[in-house]
Amino acid sequence: MSTDLDVAVVGAGIAGLTAAHELTRAGLAVRVFEARDRVGGRMASHRRAGYTMDEGAEQLPAYGYRATWELVRRTGLTDDEVPRIGAPLAMWRDGAAHPGVSDPRALLTGAGLSPAARLDLARFLASAARHRHRFDPDRPERTPLGTATVAELARRYHPDLHDYLFQPVVGSFFGWHPERSAAAPFVSLLLAVGPPSTWRTYRDGMDTLARRLADDLDVATATVVSEVDTAGDIAVLTTDRGPVTARVALLCVPAPVAARLHRDPAEPVREFLDACTFTPTLKVSCLLNRPLAPPSPRPLYTLLTPRTEEPVLAGIIVDHVKHPWRAPAGRGLLTLMTTPTAIPALLDVPDHEAAATLLTPAARHVPGLDTAVTATVVHRFRHGLPEATPAALRLRAGFAARPPGPVDYAGDWEYLRPSSEGAVRSAARAASRALAHLRATTRTREPV
Ligand SMILES: Cc1cc2nc3c(=O)[nH]c(=O)nc-3n(C[C@H](O)[C@H](O)[C@H](O)COP(=O)(O)OP(=O)(O)OC[C@H]3O[C@@H](n4cnc5c(N)ncnc54)[C@H](O)[C@@H]3O)c2cc1C
Repeated sequence: MSTDLDVAVVGAGIAGLTAAHELTRAGLAVRVFEARDRVGGRMASHRRAGYTMDEGAEQLPAYGYRATWELVRRTGLTDDEVPRIGAPLAMWRDGAAHPGVSDPRALLTGAGLSPAARLDLARFLASAARHRHRFDPDRPERTPLGTATVAELARRYHPDLHDYLFQPVVGSFFGWHPERSAAAPFVSLLLAVGPPSTWRTYRDGMDTLARRLADDLDVATATVVSEVDTAGDIAVLTTDRGPVTARVALLCVPAPVAARLHRDPAEPVREFLDACTFTPTLKVSCLLNRPLAPPSPRPLYTLLTPRTEEPVLAGIIVDHVKHPWRAPAGRGLLTLMTTPTAIPALLDVPDHEAAATLLTPAARHVPGLDTAVTATVVHRFRHGLPEATPAALRLRAGFAARPPGPVDYAGDWEYLRPSSEGAVRSAARAASRALAHLRATTRTREPV
């Protein structure tokens, strides 16, 4: 039976665009269906009055992102377009910012840790380094940490490691509750990406790679897919612009969305999709009339504010330090991140209320903030980051071993990795699986 397309990709986030790029390069007829009127998904940027605000992803490290860097090079982006940030992360403790978080020098400088906790940090790092080869971010279920949560891992060490390192890092950049998420993907990612001094960002906004990929692809934006089903060995998509048939449908959407779109997948897919919960995220961009930042001995990229000291504010990103082009000359841009426990109560409140809730604590860390803010923009993702629970970790290997078929999946959640590299790697794998399925079904249909 002939179909409209070889491959229909649902979702123009970085996973969907990567998969479509690979399959288009292989000579297939591929179309991407995207519900929003723009590409990028959780790697999108919002532009207003000369400010560029990253709605989701903020940065990419130079190490541990091999698949992403391969795409960056292939699309012709230069080093100038993906510059190094070069400023440190700091931890807020006892009324001051302590730079050097996640930097090896923190063993000496502390970065907010007490001397006793620094010894335990050395113990933790030595143990992780000893087993480094077992911390493969592509196989988080195989690490020596098993299914221990971040909080359970922290209990083996001085309480500072939880309060002034693990919780603030996972509560800001990962969107996690330490009590709910598994430590294995967290430690694997930390070891892979190295210190923040190597981190980079896209000069023109974190949506740069997505936009560049989309330029050469067939992308139908503002097209909502409401159901994906199979008829024999073909996939049938219901969209708000009519039905579409394809030999393969790739669902490159967060796991809870995929579970809603394709209702009856075989086990072990169903079980894993159900276990792949997401946490919501909420950030507030503050457009400033001058380049303010949290006071610190060195200009900061990010100030992390631990839950023990700030129940609502998880941290402050200094966007004009991330890259000066994020704000017009002489102006400033800050991003306020929200603690995961505070987000559910803020998800549905009006924007001005959410912004005010974050601005009050932020003003304690940025003197003059009240008078410098000219506007705020709230960014929310209901499915913000994959939660990587112990239950999902237990089921991951089974999901990874599923046979290829007419409906398949990709996204950061496949590796339980709250990072764009996880999405890109998953998409590259989904593209290979789709090719394998197409080859197998072509042979069945047209024996040679
Ligand atoms: C606040 C935040 C900060 C982050 N920081 C970083 C960071 O600094 N570095 C990093 O590497 N990663 C970071 N991440 C993670 C990174 O953004 C994600 O891992 C990655 O973007 C996920 O890509 P994806 O393609 O798997 O999913 P998505 O980006 O979610 O793409 C899914 C797409 O599918 C579309 N869609 C959904 N439903 C439908 C439907 N029914 N029909 C059609 N289209 C549909 C959506 O609109 C979306 O465009 C962050 C994420 C968030 C939320």
